[in-house]
Amino acid sequence: MARVFIGLGSNLAEPRQQLHNALSALTATDGISQVRCSPLYASDPLGPADQPRYLNAVAELATTLAPLELLDVLQRIELEQGRERKDQRWGPRTLDLDILLYDQQQIDHPRLQVPHYHMHARAFVLYPLADLAPELILPNQTRLQTLLAACPFAGLERLD
Ligand code: ATP
Ligand code: MG
Ligand code: MG
Repeated sequence: MARVFIGLGSNLAEPRQQLHNALSALTATDGISQVRCSPLYASDPLGPADQPRYLNAVAELATTLAPLELLDVLQRIELEQGRERKDQRWGPRTLDLDILLYDQQQIDHPRLQVPHYHMHARAFVLYPLADLAPELILPNQTRLQTLLAACPFAGLERLD
């Protein structure tokens, strides 16, 4: 069983429902168990500013799926929930599911980089991750708390 953290984000078509449905879809997937979600956060968009704020969370799960099999599952769920892939980078989307961490593995594949290449600098990833696993240490031996200390809470809002 691998211990995995997934970053969830949505800023279109009822984001709260999108995240809820994504968690249900993960829980219903063969080879995935023990799904646990952080509190929800609202965040300012990365990239184009003329789009709604995001709703973000991090989920922890246990899986017997290999990393690329898990990526296939996440991309299927994104598509089922109406994700359209457009040319604009970081444009608005119904659902984004990114693999943040897969055990202590470091993966460099054309389709998959793990740890997620930009998680260390994203408040909307680091704060919910710390809600779930405050003592976490990344594969390069960096402590999550060290990353948090260097990442301002600015632009983030923790929701009830
Ligand atoms: P960002 O990666 O900066 O958060 P994004 O999530 O909007 O941007 P997507 O359009 O969702 O980017 O994904 C683009 C590609 O990233 C996917 O087709 C996927 O193959 C690749 N990818 C690489 N590493 C990962 C990862 N750790 N999790 C999810 N997708 C990844
Ligand atoms: Mg993303
Ligand atoms: Mg993505």
